[in-house]
Amino acid sequence: MADFLLPRHCVVCGRPLGLHERHICLYCDADLPLTRCWTQASHPMADRYNARIQEYLQEEQERLEHYQYAASLFYYSEEAGYREIPQALKYGGQLELGRHFAARLGALLAESPLWADVDWVVPVPLHWLRRWRRGYNQAAVIAGEITRELNRRPGARVQLRTDVLLRRRHTLTQTRMSGPQKRHNVSGAFRARPAASDAPRHILLVDDVFTSGSTLTACHQALRAVFPPPVRISAATLAFVQEE
Ligand SMILES: [Zn+2]
Repeated sequence: MADFLLPRHCVVCGRPLGLHERHICLYCDADLPLTRCWTQASHPMADRYNARIQEYLQEEQERLEHYQYAASLFYYSEEAGYREIPQALKYGGQLELGRHFAARLGALLAESPLWADVDWVVPVPLHWLRRWRRGYNQAAVIAGEITRELNRRPGARVQLRTDVLLRRRHTLTQTRMSGPQKRHNVSGAFRARPAASDAPRHILLVDDVFTSGSTLTACHQALRAVFPPPVRISAATLAFVQEE
């Protein structure tokens, strides 16, 4: 029955899938360009995230902060078929496919000590209008699976918090914008709510794709206004675009 409901072609290359394959064929899965950055504190994605954070702090003449962590499951490029994974989740309504890859990322994060103290997982919110049109927030789908995987560790009590960040305005699609344009587009687009109960120690922000880092940095700024250091605010995405 599931065969009639699930797309039975590889999301990456389009080959018909075998009985035991789900979403992606064995060949494409074996070649999935994993970043392997989830065990490292410092790497190009975290460098870009931290560079954006420091740029903002310098502009605002605020104190610089410690290096924050970031992680992504695989590399994204316009030319490779792997771009279809986040696309199918975001535009194709393929939630099960998104959950499959998000769970893989979550399981890898759960194995690395860098993420051992994550207590809140916060998806980048969509504006309510876009959320209503699409029917779901792809970042929340990914965040839900990551939370589930982190909670498999003994004693873990990680909360999925979709109530902490609010999107104040409808930002424009950023695909064709330059770096400074993107920053201007999303800066101030988010607002964070103070926590009614215990404050978190380590917040993991979640989105689908990390490109310039401007969206995640805008979320970081909004959270920082409510959760000052030493609360750690890390970022995780399914895919990372190496070339900006
Ligand atoms: Zn394939």
